[in-house]
Amino acid sequence: MTGRPLLDDCFLHDKERLRHQEALEILKDRVSRVADIEVQPLETCLERVLAEEVTAPRNVPLADNSAVDGYAFRHADFDEAGGFFRLEQRIAAGHAADVGLAPWGAARIFTGAVMPPGADTVAMQEDCEPHQQDGQDFVIVPQGLKKGANCRLAGEDVAEGTTILSAGQRLRPQDIAAIASTGRAEVSVYRKLKVALVSTGDELRRPGSLVTVGDVYDSNHYLLRGLCGTLALEVTDLGILKDDAALVETTLKDAARDHDVILTTGGASRGEEDHMLSALDSLGSRHMWQLAIKPGRPMMFGTIDKCVYLGLPGNPVAAMVCFLLYARPVMSVLGGGPFLEPQAFQVPAAFEVPRKKPDRREFYRASLKPDGDGRPAAHKFLRDGSGLITGLREADGLVEIPEDVTSVSRGDLVTFLPFSGFGIR
Ligand code: AMP
Ligand code: MG
Repeated sequence: MTGRPLLDDCFLHDKERLRHQEALEILKDRVSRVADIEVQPLETCLERVLAEEVTAPRNVPLADNSAVDGYAFRHADFDEAGGFFRLEQRIAAGHAADVGLAPWGAARIFTGAVMPPGADTVAMQEDCEPHQQDGQDFVIVPQGLKKGANCRLAGEDVAEGTTILSAGQRLRPQDIAAIASTGRAEVSVYRKLKVALVSTGDELRRPGSLVTVGDVYDSNHYLLRGLCGTLALEVTDLGILKDDAALVETTLKDAARDHDVILTTGGASRGEEDHMLSALDSLGSRHMWQLAIKPGRPMMFGTIDKCVYLGLPGNPVAAMVCFLLYARPVMSVLGGGPFLEPQAFQVPAAFEVPRKKPDRREFYRASLKPDGDGRPAAHKFLRDGSGLITGLREADGLVEIPEDVTSVSRGDLVTFLPFSGFGIR
């Protein structure tokens, strides 16, 4: 008996699907910032996108000051007479000397205290010997200290007028610290994007509820909520939608009115129970759908009026990969940031893939572990299933294998995309 040839795992050959790079080009081409600007206190700015150039209005530090607890003196005196100084001042952090040092004079000084006028060098207290003579305090400083030792100069961190951050940068803790160090308490950032999060599938239940055979807990909601946390978004949970065409359509239509982005998971293929595609096609425009990647073939991108629609696959691994590669950069751009490219570096493969399909790009869950020489190598998660959250948990990144590669041998250099480059661990 001759039957129809098997179509492998897809109904369209990967050759005819959009390639990863083409998908990125479409996304880059079709999205731009929608968020407007608001002024916010620094306390609320972590991971927000800066909407202005930040320039230092003053020097940081403001004045020359001591880097250690010790004794401040004039290096020229030291050159001439060695290290025997008369102690004439005491300066603690937050206080400044009114008068300069007399010749051969030194000041007891503490970390962060402003240098007395004339002083340019500080000896650490551990290296010095206090000395009393005729009721007068002296300090003996050992030879060998260079001019300027242990002294922090005004503006050495940031000089007045220097641009420290540019519009479009996503603020990290150290960036916010830098802004605070210049004395600013507020900055202009882009408004948080309003994102509607939707899970779809008759089988889905929220954790905490009872399940029967056939039910699946909605883990993707928590996965995506967590991933959205890397972009400081305002997430609305629209819950779980049943696989019902009319319900899907009205929910998307309503959500599009008051959200910048609708992010769905599941129902993205062309099965009879998949309704996202037809809902998008009837409500708005579809710009992208089937991709030549694994995992994550059905990845929808479209618009419903002014709202961007991102339809992720339902399988957890595919949902996470598509979020990181496509949804995350898109939402960054909509929120005023850059199109976030993954961090990538080459490492030797500690695994083999004897046969890989050409024409599609594959992303493996992998962890970096030292090989025999102590250098990092990529270890692929052994099971391939797109439903296995275990692999995501054990991995610390993705290995990216391009379309034209048809096998991987142990030791081949492969591209590793660390999760840390996506703002997660
Ligand atoms: P679908 O894309 O709707 O065909 O779903 C593909 C697979 O992913 C099915 O096994 C679903 O049960 C599963 N799935 C879909 N949505 C979720 C979700 N929110 N959480 C966990 N698994 C899901
Ligand atoms: Mg489904």
